[in-house]
Amino acid sequence: MAGIYIHIPFCKKKCIYCNFYSIMNTKRMEEYVETLIKEFKVQGLGFKEKLEVRSQKSEVRSQKYISPAGGGLRGWINSKINTLYFGGGTPSLLPVNLLEKILNALYENFEVADDAESTIEANPEQCSLEYLKELKRLGFNRISIGIQSFNDDVLQFLGRTHSGKDTSLAIENARKAGFENISIDLIYGIDLRSLQDWTQELKTAFGLPVKHLSAYSLTVEENTLLHKKISQQKMPNIDEEQSLQEMMMLMNEAEKNGFIHYEVSNFALKDYHSKHNSNYWNGTPYLGFGAAAHSFTGKTRSWNISNVDKYIQAVNENKPYYEMEHLTFDEQYNEYVLLRLRTKEGIDLKRLEDCFGKEKKEYFLESLQKINPQYYKHQFQYVTITKEGLTLLDFITENLLI
Ligand code: SF4
Repeated sequence: MAGIYIHIPFCKKKCIYCNFYSIMNTKRMEEYVETLIKEFKVQGLGFKEKLEVRSQKSEVRSQKYISPAGGGLRGWINSKINTLYFGGGTPSLLPVNLLEKILNALYENFEVADDAESTIEANPEQCSLEYLKELKRLGFNRISIGIQSFNDDVLQFLGRTHSGKDTSLAIENARKAGFENISIDLIYGIDLRSLQDWTQELKTAFGLPVKHLSAYSLTVEENTLLHKKISQQKMPNIDEEQSLQEMMMLMNEAEKNGFIHYEVSNFALKDYHSKHNSNYWNGTPYLGFGAAAHSFTGKTRSWNISNVDKYIQAVNENKPYYEMEHLTFDEQYNEYVLLRLRTKEGIDLKRLEDCFGKEKKEYFLESLQKINPQYYKHQFQYVTITKEGLTLLDFITENLLI
């Protein structure tokens, strides 16, 4: 298995909390798409032709490229693409003809599995029935709608460009357009919203015909308007207590509604977990295209230039447009522990030992002794984080890394 991520770095307006790479100027959108297609060709490099040859050699190569999830380069080399993900930025700002161009080029350069999960992120205000029907026609089978809140005051505070009304219409249109696999995003830990209002938001969310929910606490990232306002004391800092309380409320409500808490920020009905994002947490290789996109092969991580103009120029002039780092053995171990602790399945001690050796497994078990046992569960060969532990995940993880 392997995934492909396409970054669409255009937004209508910058939200106050956002530090993802995105720009408001859409003048170079078409050129950007042409450049993406060029990047597919550079990275694809006869991917389809090589797939067959490489799979014949795979048994020999696999010895070298073992990865925690049994993926790594071996998975990359042998596999078809099983997930496509258009994220941003705001992919739904792209007109249908440009999305179609990208998809055609993707299918030309890569071997995409027939049953691949194909997701596009969309903002509610662009979710007209007509547009969503076109997305469906193009082959997207999963839509992730950036709702964040149903409350107009909260949306305005966050700097979003949609209203509470747009959110319900977006879901309705997605259903009418034929999307069955719908995900929504929510943000919690917002000072101006009371716990009662949060209860109401959760009720609304779980009353919708959605199969997946991602929820993030509002965090103060550098280079954001939120950071600036808080530093200038024009806004109160995040109330961590409130945030934790809201996270617990969310976990309880999700459980009541049959949603599986499969990753710290993600909840899904059975069989509706995000396959693409699960690739990240499983250590499966993925290739990212576009400005600021990241790629991971199991042993290397690379990231494209975070600047649309420079990205377009570099790719078109055949100049380096990404940086790459080779992960040391310890870094690979840290990556495995860090990502797996976020998931419901947790750390598989047998796999940990197979991939990193007995010594590392013992190191992990020794470090675990520093953690209060109410925050984790060690059962058979698995170590998972409890509900209480999830609220302290950063602290716990820190103690388990090398
Ligand atoms: S729409 Fe999304 S990517 Fe764009 S600024 Fe807002 S949060 Fe960031």
